[in-house]
Amino acid sequence: MKVLGIETSCDETSAAVVTDDREILSNVVRSQIAEHEIYGGVVPEIASRAHIKFLDGIIRKALEVARVAIAEIDGVAVTAGPGLIGGVIVGVMEAKALASVLGKPFLAVNHLEGHALTARLTDDVEFPYLLLLVSGGHCQILNVKGVGQYELLGETLDDAVGESFDKLAKMLKFPMPGGPKIEALAKSGNANAFELPRPLLGKKNLDFSFSGLKTAVKKVVDSREFPAEDIAATFQQRIGEILVEKMQSALNATSAKRMVVAGGVAANLHLRGALQKLADKSKVELICPPVALCTDNAAMIAWAGVEKLRLGLVDGLDFKPRARWPLVNL
Ligand code: AMP
Ligand code: MG
Repeated sequence: MKVLGIETSCDETSAAVVTDDREILSNVVRSQIAEHEIYGGVVPEIASRAHIKFLDGIIRKALEVARVAIAEIDGVAVTAGPGLIGGVIVGVMEAKALASVLGKPFLAVNHLEGHALTARLTDDVEFPYLLLLVSGGHCQILNVKGVGQYELLGETLDDAVGESFDKLAKMLKFPMPGGPKIEALAKSGNANAFELPRPLLGKKNLDFSFSGLKTAVKKVVDSREFPAEDIAATFQQRIGEILVEKMQSALNATSAKRMVVAGGVAANLHLRGALQKLADKSKVELICPPVALCTDNAAMIAWAGVEKLRLGLVDGLDFKPRARWPLVNL
């Protein structure tokens, strides 16, 4: 079985071909960083237009790299939400057109489900597992019980983790995306340079809050008392402590045997290291998909399509693209 996947929900235009044998035949990703950089953030209208401009060529390239003729595709999977609605519509319309012309199943994939199932593509992880989803738009802990079966254990009450990395980078006047820059700076900084608040730590529930941290770190930046390296290191260290403590509580609450981390922030090696220590201490397995599959990409959408298609979970061509689509409402 071969599924074509399409991803256009934010600032990556991507197409991929993935098989039910967990083989990624192609995964073409075009980032729009260059288009949005001068604005300091993703501009939805510009994103939609860039998706329209590049998507056809990227699908063609994905089929070419995979050496698969379009007629050999067994299904067309697409991110149908959540995301910037203009971009989501571009992908969904294209996927519907292809599915209808080819007479093949149309698979509307929740973008978060794509992230949630990636570890099954890369590492064949069995259900159930705990998922820490940390991206530019999300910070959630989920209990992944099966395809379409997600229990939300906790989530951020304000900023997403990636968003707070991006905001700190902006305060320090670095270009987007901020996460990698903060991680690089932190390498040569003192992680105990000053005190930062410990938002919602020690509280029993599994929710996160990062806006207090943002305000506190802004004061430090404005004071000009510390070099950017120390600010980055101290901030990153505190984020790590927060993620580890909440995952520890989630492990206690569920007696899970496996933890998976996904989303763009999962690229951060300091955070991966902190979670690995927790995994070792708690004697659970930690699975971190390769960085290229943690950030937005169509391979994860194609794979979620494979998982759905195997279970006969096909969608109608009347499926409406969704700007908001919580995983727990599948
Ligand atoms: P996504 O929303 O999954 O596309 O991921 C993008 C987000 O991940 C952005 O907010 C980035 O700043 C963040 N990110 C990417 N790499 C890193 C990193 N090494 N450390 C922290 N955050 C990162
Ligand atoms: Mg992105």
